[in-house]
Amino acid sequence: MNIPFNKPYMTGKELWNIAQAHANGHLAGDGTFTKQCSRWLEARTGATKALLTHSCTAGLEMAAMLADLSPGDEVIMPSYTFVSTANAFVLRGVVPVFVDIRRDTLNIDETLIESAITGRTRAIVPVHYAGVGCEMDAIMAIAQRHQLLVIEDAAQAVMAGYRGRPLGAIGHMGALSFHETKNIISGEGGALLVNGTDFAERAEIIREKGTNRSQFFRGQVDKYTWVDVGSSYLPSELVAAFLWAQMDEAETITRRRLAIWDTYHNAFAEAEAAGLLRRPVVPEHCGHNAHMYYLLLPDLGRRTAFIDRLRKVGINCVFHYIPLHSAPAGKRLGRSHGELPVTVELADRLVRLPLWLGLEDQQDEVIRQILAAL
Ligand SMILES: *Cc1c(COP(=O)(O)O)cnc(C)c1O
Repeated sequence: MNIPFNKPYMTGKELWNIAQAHANGHLAGDGTFTKQCSRWLEARTGATKALLTHSCTAGLEMAAMLADLSPGDEVIMPSYTFVSTANAFVLRGVVPVFVDIRRDTLNIDETLIESAITGRTRAIVPVHYAGVGCEMDAIMAIAQRHQLLVIEDAAQAVMAGYRGRPLGAIGHMGALSFHETKNIISGEGGALLVNGTDFAERAEIIREKGTNRSQFFRGQVDKYTWVDVGSSYLPSELVAAFLWAQMDEAETITRRRLAIWDTYHNAFAEAEAAGLLRRPVVPEHCGHNAHMYYLLLPDLGRRTAFIDRLRKVGINCVFHYIPLHSAPAGKRLGRSHGELPVTVELADRLVRLPLWLGLEDQQDEVIRQILAAL
């Protein structure tokens, strides 16, 4: 067997769309395909504005600029996340404050957030791990009480919801990823979702190198000029053309991923009952997107043996984040709120299983091997 951990799914329409973009002759950002993708995101999420970016990292960097933070300010986030969640803020001189995660969803433990707030706290950055929503009602209420911004790292959460609301569009801002390891892809790619017209207007400027070029193209100003900080965060039309093929099939892609996820989940119920592992927990009110299927094994030793054994039969399973608070840059640039015992424990026990469209044919054999490895 040779089962990779991830295999990018192509709908078959990507090259056709790229040929269209080529024929249109508009290759820079913000052409027809970019507009189609943005309208799709706005319609799906209800965000005031959706702006395509060249990555989720870029979207988070834009959010950090929009939040108008000063050096020494603090933002609260989980330690169990990707480096970009923290780096986007560190680039502005801001200190990430790491809070422990919930044992069930591995998302930030909302009950610990309030005690991490200081006079310098400006924002909360929930990360929807595996496309399962954080407790957004509680987080939004805390933010409102303390006048903080909520910036969702929804990199893994396209097509997922919390109490019927799309993730990424619940807070003031949210960033999605279309990296090839995510559900809907364009190789590298992302989007920033913003709520409120002030953020929407300024986001457009920050994304266009700090100029009001977008207003100029709409005929709202008669020349364009430098009006704010900013950088170049637009993806090319070629990337948007690829992405549109994927968005067009987002429902099918999600449905098929959910079927693979459910097959795994049913297959490991007995092993969980026997105490060999713990399966993911998806709360009733979270509509997840099957971004990831993971298992929690009893300890690091057994996880290492599990990964090794499966690699020998050609099945590639992988662990995930080194908690940021324990990484060299995290120690230097961030601060931990307490000991983060759940983060430390679960990071050692988690293993992700292959989940990609096309795996269906071989999934029974993959499951057989996994059960044998336990
Ligand atoms: C993938 C991911 C990112 C980064 O996304 P890019 O599009 O590669 O920049 C950020 N945060 C989380 C939680 C992710 O999973």
